Amino acid sequence: MSRDAAGIRLTEWDYAHEAMVTAIFHEKPHKQVAYEIFYPTGPFAILPMLDDEAGRHRSAIVWSVSRAEAPVYKKLSPRGMAHEIEKAMGGLLGEIEMNAPVMGYPLNFQHANRITDTRMVLVGDAAHGMHPIAGQGLNLGLRDVAALAQVVVEGMRLGLDPGNAQILERYTRWRSLDVQTVMMATDTLNKLFGIPGKTASAARRVGLAAVQRMKPIKNFFMAEARGESGNLPKLLQGLPV
Ligand SMILES: Cc1cc2nc3c(=O)[nH]c(=O)nc-3n(C[C@H](O)[C@H](O)[C@H](O)COP(=O)(O)OP(=O)(O)OC[C@H]3O[C@@H](n4cnc5c(N)ncnc54)[C@H](O)[C@@H]3O)c2cc1C
Repeated sequence: MSRDAAGIRLTEWDYAHEAMVTAIFHEKPHKQVAYEIFYPTGPFAILPMLDDEAGRHRSAIVWSVSRAEAPVYKKLSPRGMAHEIEKAMGGLLGEIEMNAPVMGYPLNFQHANRITDTRMVLVGDAAHGMHPIAGQGLNLGLRDVAALAQVVVEGMRLGLDPGNAQILERYTRWRSLDVQTVMMATDTLNKLFGIPGKTASAARRVGLAAVQRMKPIKNFFMAEARGESGNLPKLLQGLPV
């Protein structure tokens, strides 16, 4: 609402995908490992959760499917859905039971053409919404907030008003490259993993195997996935502002 009122436009496109989000109980422990299985129709992520009070193993599921397929899955009974999830997981964590209803989120790309206005800033998904394939949305939002806190505090120490144009300009400069890089990488990854066929699948396997073997590159991708790479604001380095 505020973004529209300020006349901030979005660059946006629709992935025609829906992310089905739910939680499951599973037979085998996840050992704190998150998995992502890339199907041509969309990624299937299994994210470890704490065991419940009865010691039952639990994980969250984020399963992206085409928007046409989603209503078919969502009409299934809990047993039918558990069966489909178990099939998609290829028995990775043994037998599955549903732990929550299935919620659907339409997926699109949204990038605000500006992230500041008079005495106003955009942070998080208000500034950038992306496909969850790489799990980067929240990380980016946290970096926005930490960078904003730092530029405002440092500006105020110099005697500037928090809404001062120089402070807002510094926030824009700091966040632009990180946001654009992550958004474009996420979009490319989504397109790359959406290419069907054996040749594309073989090329992806070679690429992933190469990353696995090259430690510095693997470390780079792991730091990126944890949201710990780039010019990190002080708050995210555990330092006071
Ligand atoms: C399926 C899925 C899986 C994801 N997985 C990951 C992941 O693994 N890792 C990761 O880093 N990110 C992930 N994300 C992205 C992450 O969820 C978002 O980037 C993050 O939640 C954005 O936080 P936000 O506070 O900016 O926006 P939101 O979480 O959207 O919060 C905005 C809040 O504002 C409220 N609101 C909206 N308009 C108004 C108004 N006018 N007045 C008052 N309140 C209002 C909304 O109801 C909402 O509660 C995923 C996203 C999806 C959809």
